[in-house]
Amino acid sequence: MAQETQEKIRFATIWLAGCSGCHMSFLDLDEFLIELTKYVDVVFSPVGSDVKDYPKNVDVCLIEGAVANQENLELLEKVRQNTKLLIAFGDCAVTTNVTGIRNQKGDAQTILERGYKELTEEHQLPQQITGGILPPLLPRVLPIHEVVDIDLFLPGCPPDADRIKAAIAPLLEGKLPEMEGREMIKFG
Ligand code: SF4
Repeated sequence: MAQETQEKIRFATIWLAGCSGCHMSFLDLDEFLIELTKYVDVVFSPVGSDVKDYPKNVDVCLIEGAVANQENLELLEKVRQNTKLLIAFGDCAVTTNVTGIRNQKGDAQTILERGYKELTEEHQLPQQITGGILPPLLPRVLPIHEVVDIDLFLPGCPPDADRIKAAIAPLLEGKLPEMEGREMIKFG
């Protein structure tokens, strides 16, 4: 593992359209999280940082979730511009998985009408959507590699803590992990 005297890795995680399960699995790293803090500075994360704007010069970013709305799209493009190594973190990021189920049902307007008009008692789109407060849905949910180049794919729903550790530990030594074998690349 890298020496503590070396410059720390600028580490980030982001959460697009996902359920947070991948981040919860990251927290399952338990004592390895303490070890990790010797080698990384968490510069942006929904679970480890209060920073609101994605910073420049990030070394590694784990990306949970697919790209489902305009806000996801803009954040992902900004993250790509400012990060050396992007990791598709979990099946939603890699394939759209659960988040992409809506793609089978039609475009964004069809989904909104089904969810808010047909299946509710109010039978109308809420003001938050029609008034532009919520980010517009994209016509279809996209896996993140359809939007930006991705450097590493870490599948799983969620990837378990052992797999996450096996993927991250080599990065601390400036190496890429070997994503081979059932224990590293099995979906689900
Ligand atoms: S891959 Fe699974 S655990 Fe991760 S965000 Fe998607 S549904 Fe949740």
